[in-house]
Amino acid sequence: IIPLNFDEYLNLDEETKDNKPTTLKEEIKVEYKPSVNIIKDVENKVKEENISTIEKPVYKEEKIVEEVKVEKKKLPYLEYIGQLSGTYLLFQNEEGLYLVDQHAAQERINYEYYFNVLANPPKESIPLLIPFNIELKKEEALMLTNNLKVLEEVGLILEPSGVNSFFVREIPVWIKASSPEVMIEKIIYFLLERNEFNIATLRDSLAKQMACKASIKANHFVSKEEVSVLMKDLDLCFNPYNCPHGRPVFVKITNYEIEKMFKRVV
Ligand code: ZN
Ligand code: ZN
Repeated sequence: IIPLNFDEYLNLDEETKDNKPTTLKEEIKVEYKPSVNIIKDVENKVKEENISTIEKPVYKEEKIVEEVKVEKKKLPYLEYIGQLSGTYLLFQNEEGLYLVDQHAAQERINYEYYFNVLANPPKESIPLLIPFNIELKKEEALMLTNNLKVLEEVGLILEPSGVNSFFVREIPVWIKASSPEVMIEKIIYFLLERNEFNIATLRDSLAKQMACKASIKANHFVSKEEVSVLMKDLDLCFNPYNCPHGRPVFVKITNYEIEKMFKRVV
């Protein structure tokens, strides 16, 4: 393992903050960027001593530099004018009309939250007043039994309650959900399906899964106050313009396009 050069790490961190890279994945790459000098040293050593067993670090220097420069995407000024079909939020500014898919918007916010928190999930948990039960198949129960310690490390405390069932006693502090039971079940099934309990390596797909689950659905009234909180949170996102699955959050119809529809212009 190549140790990080901490001076460079800190500088890069500052640079990252200032330049605000556009996606979380890019930010992660920046965090783990090893010092160029250290890598050169190792490469030279390998050449000099002709040691083939030392693993060369895999990294792409040019790509990282390029990505650090990418600016965080900021939202323009938008005035809220109402909700359409209980699904889209309508905004306007001097350029035209904007439709925001409320589910996609909240999904982006939740995704970035879970992606960040899962990089280093806190161990703290919240005891449930009434533990709930999870029934599993025999082989799933066995797999879960072997991984109870791993789940405890991220604040999820389960206890066998029968031959193939478990009580969920305590849930992680980092779970934000109105019905955490559903979320916990989803997470457990997600990990079992993949037969892998390493939260850090699964955090991208796990974050997507949890983000979708926790987000407001279509056909749901959203108050003006909720809209303003949503837009503030969205503005803090690295990429407020797409949901984690790549769908657009915004659709813009310019004033010119509207005037064309009414044949005011050609
Ligand atoms: Zn979704
Ligand atoms: Zn999505």
